[in-house]
Amino acid sequence: MAICGVMRPGHCQLRVLDLEESEKFYTNVMGLQAMGRDASGRSYFKALDEFDHHSVVLRQADRAGMDFYGFKVRDAKTLDQLEADLKAYGVSTERIPAGELLETGERVRFKAPTGHTFELYAEKTKVGNGLGNLNPEAIIDGRKGISPVRLDHWQIHGSDLDGSRDLFINVLGFSLVERILMEDGKTDMAVWLSCSNKAHDIAFVRDERDDTLHHASYYLETWEQVLKAADILTIHRASLDIGPLRHGITRGTTIYAFDPSGNRFETFCGGYDYYPDMDTVVWTWDEIGRGIFYHTRELNERFLTVVT
Ligand code: FE
Repeated sequence: MAICGVMRPGHCQLRVLDLEESEKFYTNVMGLQAMGRDASGRSYFKALDEFDHHSVVLRQADRAGMDFYGFKVRDAKTLDQLEADLKAYGVSTERIPAGELLETGERVRFKAPTGHTFELYAEKTKVGNGLGNLNPEAIIDGRKGISPVRLDHWQIHGSDLDGSRDLFINVLGFSLVERILMEDGKTDMAVWLSCSNKAHDIAFVRDERDDTLHHASYYLETWEQVLKAADILTIHRASLDIGPLRHGITRGTTIYAFDPSGNRFETFCGGYDYYPDMDTVVWTWDEIGRGIFYHTRELNERFLTVVT
């Protein structure tokens, strides 16, 4: 799809149990760039190659998980239109004033049927990746930790998958890229949706635990960098879930691990380029193991059960 409405996952606010420990983790292990704290004590980060002021906001809380998921839209006119479209669809919206998040314009907030809080916004201060826009260098020198290119997508769980899927497709203009069907051969167990050329920008999984996070995902450029990420996670004794390995679904290569609060994250690369004239890829229940983990062809218990 031409990227003219919702462009990409732009930011998310993650709950952490110990802010200072988490700041160290996201700086030294994940290799994000610290962008400061706001008056309420929230801590801001960006991936080094991202242009906008921040993509990950950490908030100290007594339980882990995600407060909200933000998508950047093309411009203010698009924001107004999508807000009107959401209302017409029967979704109530709330305007969060500019500046409530640092360096960020007005946000349109709404709840999806799976219980998650989403936001759309059009404005965030561009700080660049340090290379400039005039005759730039090709690489960013001095990276440390895993140092992903960008915050890439989220996998989130809730019971009314059909409701969230339809809202994202019918109102926000996402495409259904891949789906896993349940044993009945009809009902979606999971869906991968794209608002861009990426194989997915968000995935929903049917799960009775509403408003839960399975993982936030960060993009790397090569399989070697995924392997290096595994080395870095071991050097820092980070809690590993599974990987490195490949997905059948979207074909990405991946590692899943946990931050100090138990929030799962993914560092991955690959996946095919998506175009809106492609047909939806369907996975049947009996092949779900190969779909999720292409090499081991079976799911691990932790991957299925742990959400925050
Ligand atoms: Fe993922």
